[in-house]
Amino acid sequence: MKNEVKKLKKKEIKIKSDVLVRSSLSVLFTSIFIVLFFVCGGLLYFYNVVIVDKFQGYDFQVHFIDVGQGDSILIKFPNEQTMLIDAGEEDEGETVTAYVNNFLKNEGLSYLDYLVLTHPDADHIGGAIEVLESIQVATVFRPKVYTPEEAADMSSENIMISTTQTYDRVISLVTEKGCNIIYNKQGIELNLGGCQVEFLSPASDYYSSTNSISAVIMMTYQTKKFLFTGDADATIENTLITQYGDYLKADVLKVAHHGSSSSSTEEFLQLVRPEYAVLCVAQNRDLPSVEVLNRLHDINSQILTTSSNGSIAVTIENDSVVYATAPVPTIDIALLISIYVLLLIFTWGIRKKEKPKRPKNVIRDNKENNSDI
Ligand SMILES: [Zn+2]
Repeated sequence: MKNEVKKLKKKEIKIKSDVLVRSSLSVLFTSIFIVLFFVCGGLLYFYNVVIVDKFQGYDFQVHFIDVGQGDSILIKFPNEQTMLIDAGEEDEGETVTAYVNNFLKNEGLSYLDYLVLTHPDADHIGGAIEVLESIQVATVFRPKVYTPEEAADMSSENIMISTTQTYDRVISLVTEKGCNIIYNKQGIELNLGGCQVEFLSPASDYYSSTNSISAVIMMTYQTKKFLFTGDADATIENTLITQYGDYLKADVLKVAHHGSSSSSTEEFLQLVRPEYAVLCVAQNRDLPSVEVLNRLHDINSQILTTSSNGSIAVTIENDSVVYATAPVPTIDIALLISIYVLLLIFTWGIRKKEKPKRPKNVIRDNKENNSDI
């Protein structure tokens, strides 16, 4: 009997020390997890850090706003005027509006001078609904793609008519807000405080695809050139090569169509040869294509993506192009959390199944032994 009690006590002590070891291990793992999480910037994983003020006060700034797979680029010119090229998908409208509003406030400005709608695709113009609702816009550059309402009195031959309600809503809002309207067209030139803004495309009013009517814009300030290509495809690139040749050389290229292989031909990239190639892409999508990335590597361009950098701000400093990005976690937070959870399961899970049975068996054995007595 005494032996049984001793055994029982020993087992109780063993179980207690076992729980103590597992608890200590859990505390250790949790401490390591918390330290790594904060040291590696884990909180950044959950917040869309904005970098509106990185180059505050600089006379020429270009901000590639992170809107996942879509385009939205905010530019401030030396004459204090501002331009937003595209505004991402409709559900990114709030992100873009917040970014633009923060930027305008930081720079002491109150409205957007220009909004460029490069072409009617939703990943470029959807967010413009929220922008137009919330921010005053003076002039809108729009594609010559008519809404069905606009096209009602026209001969439908050789004109492009929209097929999406999102685009129609944007256009009716542009009219409702009383913005000046200019149709995107090759040859449009603006001089905004010494920055030359030129529309290189579209050269025609009619194309068989909406991507082809994308506005392609070259900006030249001081000795640097920035080329914005919307979703222009290889056919348009070939036209640009024929029409502009070496003039296409640029320091910063907004890579066309989110790095799709239907754009960014070898010939085009060989002419542009940008120091920086910016790709507006989302995480875990099939773009940018490996072919385009390889072509950019071949011409030694530094690749910046909104998927890994978040929003990207670019300016010119001491005759060089410099950029800043939002801080991102230096560790894969999903991997860190997975390892932590696995360690906890390993520590508690496997033995835990045996734990409740043992004392019950011991008590039952004890009762059985008693009945024997
Ligand atoms: Zn697009």
